[in-house]
Amino acid sequence: MKSVSRLACVDRLKNQVVLVTGASSGIGRGIALAMADEGARVVVNHIRDRASAEEVVREIRSKGTDALVLEADVSREDHVEVMFASAVREFGTVDILVNNAGIQRDAPVHEMTFQEWQAVIDVNLTGAFLCSREAVREFRRRGLIPERSIAAGKIIFISSVHQVIPWSGHCNYAASKGGLMQFMKSLAQEVARDRIRVNGIAPGAIRTDINRESWEDPAALESLLKLIPLNRIGEPRDIGSVAVWLASDESDYVHGATIFVDGGMALYPGFSSGG
Ligand code: NAD
Repeated sequence: MKSVSRLACVDRLKNQVVLVTGASSGIGRGIALAMADEGARVVVNHIRDRASAEEVVREIRSKGTDALVLEADVSREDHVEVMFASAVREFGTVDILVNNAGIQRDAPVHEMTFQEWQAVIDVNLTGAFLCSREAVREFRRRGLIPERSIAAGKIIFISSVHQVIPWSGHCNYAASKGGLMQFMKSLAQEVARDRIRVNGIAPGAIRTDINRESWEDPAALESLLKLIPLNRIGEPRDIGSVAVWLASDESDYVHGATIFVDGGMALYPGFSSGG
């Protein structure tokens, strides 16, 4: 079977700078490496995970492009402003932002603390706002460079199937991702006139630390697979390849869209035998 990485092209993002939040692990790491395969220089954002972030940078440099580690808490306005200023100082500009950083703090609502609610909204939703605001400011400041891309900038939101599928026991997370969807669409409407493209990816179940308990244990994996028509858990490279395409000029007429990369999870698989 051909793997996704063997199907990849090269240099679709040459001379472009991508900033990926939460890029020291999981999906963010997968996206950072996939973008580097296409020639992009990568800003690897992390929080309290410098060793892993530096490892990602080493891997990117071994591909012949450049990368930079920047620590910042995306939920902090001052951190995000400094991160973007540092990226622009080091690499000249930012061409692509991937809002990937995200957390879960699961609990039924009657047991959920205010801190658990607020932390998820702060990172998943407010963090995406703060980073997108800095990116839009930079894209507008720099303007279009036609030999680099048809767009003045691209923003990709890593949302979740739970932007549309309700999720009992995870109300804070589902609310943050539903909010992210409306933020993405509204922003897309707002910045189209600046030639800035904005889209989302809604992953299903991808094998990362965030959901380790649902794939490490065989019984849990079996019940998870019942929710996935393609009958396999996704890998970070499944998201990386779509993120590259959304960042490239190949998707130039795609705007304000969410691509579900979920093995069919959003197809209501419980109805596959007639309901
Ligand atoms: P992960 O835990 O490996 O990655 C999340 C990353 O975000 C980590 O590197 C973490 O350090 C970083 N992060 C957390 N808080 C941060 C902050 N305040 N500032 C900066 N970085 C911060 O898990 P993942 O699965 O790779 O998650 C990446 C994104 O994908 C998340 O937004 C998650 O909601 C989304 N997602 C994941 C799945 C899945 O099945 N794995 C499914 C749907 C959506």
